[in-house]
Formats: sequence, structure tokens, C-alpha cells
Amino acid sequence: MTHRAPEPLPQVAALDPYVPGKPSPSEAGSLASNESPFGASPQVAEALAAYASRIHRYPSPLASGVSAELARLHGVDPERVLVGNGSDEVIYLLAMAYAAGGRAVCADPPYRLDEIVPQIVGASVVKVPLKDWAHDLDAMADVDADLAFVVNPHNPTGTTVTREAIRAFAERSRARLVVVDEAYVEFADDPEAVTMVHETGGNLAVMRTLSKAYGLAGARVGYLVADPVVIDALRRIRPPFSVTGPSQAAALAALADTAHLAWVRDKTRQGRERLYRLFEAAGYEVVPSQANFVLVVAPDAEELQARLERGGVSVRLGANLELPGTVRVTVASDEGFELLERALESS
Ligand SMILES: *Cc1c(COP(=O)(O)O)cnc(C)c1O
Repeated sequence: MTHRAPEPLPQVAALDPYVPGKPSPSEAGSLASNESPFGASPQVAEALAAYASRIHRYPSPLASGVSAELARLHGVDPERVLVGNGSDEVIYLLAMAYAAGGRAVCADPPYRLDEIVPQIVGASVVKVPLKDWAHDLDAMADVDADLAFVVNPHNPTGTTVTREAIRAFAERSRARLVVVDEAYVEFADDPEAVTMVHETGGNLAVMRTLSKAYGLAGARVGYLVADPVVIDALRRIRPPFSVTGPSQAAALAALADTAHLAWVRDKTRQGRERLYRLFEAAGYEVVPSQANFVLVVAPDAEELQARLERGGVSVRLGANLELPGTVRVTVASDEGFELLERALESS
């Protein structure tokens, strides 16, 4: 060692990094990270086991099998789909290709990565406060930006904006590229009434993930549906093998099991209602949600979190999501709900 370790780029040194949800004391009480408590399709385990004999080979560089299946599912050309190592990788690629040294606009509070990733590539980030817990698209449209992020349903609030509003936003926005993050859209009462996936092209792109409804958070598979020009740009810079072979196999198995998806959707919608009832009965206000979590307005947020933690339940403190005075609670399994009920009644 002859020299001191170098300073990183100033924007990296200044970064306020992502803080993941705390691991829970129990599997069923893990309600801090919006993972599916219902697990992945049983077919996924079989696909992973079967993949073992091929593990010495490189996988399809662009996850072509998965993107072909997604294209079929959405009725779009495969040239309009890019699969990434989680949608988080897609956010990095978008920021690198379109916003390096430029500007991004997102909601305040945002999905944290929409704020962090542009900063990493030296972009400034304009955050536009939510209005009634939802995106204020009129105000966001006035911001000169390279990238606009709209999360629909939003995380951490669970609120949606209408398709008409997004259409008007894409029309009027001063942002060069509008990215609609639909990580939770499968849980909406009527996903078809929320999604923009059939209207992508030009300056409008839609991002999806298999981490939530498909229960594949550990496999890291997300994707972008966009104009072929945008997809081509991201393919140029994407690390060739960023989605692992096992993850591609898991994704194909998960996408094929439509019955599992339908069951998860039903259970999640019922669980959302159960969360409203529980927290309202405990005297809290709950923001109506279209996602697999609810935002609970809790003046005693820290104390509430500590009480739940003692009962074996971890939730996300709003203070870590730029929303002090709230906690975010993911829909639970039946066992998780029992833990939660007991923990709420305790002191
Ligand atoms: C969970 C989540 C994602 C998913 O990210 P992956 O990298 O695909 O796991 C994307 N966007 C939002 C808003 C999320 O909450």
C-alpha cells in the first residue's frame, strides 16, 4: 500500500444511501419490505432444481426467453422489452443512458431509488410533493428534466393516478422520458384500468417487476416495456449476463403459473382490507391502497414500530421513507396476521 485510498466522486461521497427494511425476528412477521407472504409458484422450485445441471453454462445474455414470454403476455414486439436484474437495474440503466449529468423528477416522498440512482450519475433530482398522498402530475409536468419517474401505485403510499392523467402528463411533461413504475399494479382492484403497458412508445415507458406479485424478490427480475429506440439504448450499456440463469428459469416458471398469480392477487386484496380494519380499530388513519401494503398514519410511529417488533413483527418506519409520522405495513399471511393482531393488542 503506497498511497491513501482515493476519494470517490463527490456525488458518491455525498450520497444518502438506500436503507433496506430490517429483517424480521420471524418469517411470518416480515412485513417491512413488501415481499409476497404467499411465496412463489411451486413450479419455481422445480425449475431451479432442473437448472442445476446447466449451471456451468452462461445464460442467455439478454434473457431472451423471458423477454419473448413477456412480450407475448403484453401483446408487444420483443424489441420493446428489456429484462434486468430487478427493476432496480433498469433504473440504473435509464439513469446512465438518459440522465447522467442532467436532471430527474420524481415525487416527494419518492421511491428511494428514483432519487438515489440519478444522483450517482451526477444528475440533480427535483422532488415534487404529493397531493392527497398521490403524485401531483400537474406540478411535475412543469419540471425540465431528462427523466420523470411516476410510481403507480406509489410506494410508500399505495395511491394511484388515472391512466388519463398519465396520458395527459406524457403529452405535456417537459421531461424527455416518462417512466411509469408499475411494481404493484397486479394488486390494483382493476389492473387493466391502471396500467399503461399497452400505451408505451415514444416518450412513455413502463417498468414492471417479478419481485412482488410473482414472489421472486430473491431472483431479481424486472423489466421495461418501451419504444425500441429506448430498449436499444439500454441494451448497449447493460452488463450482458446481468440476469442469472436460475433467475431466468424461475421467471419463466412463475410467468407460466397464472393460477398462482390469481390466488396471490385475491389473498392480497383481502389482506389489504384486513389491514385497514385492524389499524382503524386500533385508532389509526390508513391511506387507501392499491398495493400489497398500507401506509398507516401514526403520530406515535416509533412507539408503534417498537411494540410490533416486540411481538415479532417488523414494519417499515416512515421516517426512513421520508414520511415521518407513518409506518408502512405489508399484507401478511394468515400466520403473520395472527402475530400482528396479538402485537397490536399488547402494550
Ligand atoms: C419493490 C419495488 C420495485 C421492485 O424492484 P426490483 O428491483 O424489481 O426488486 C420497483 N419499484 C418500486 C416502487 C418498488 O416498491
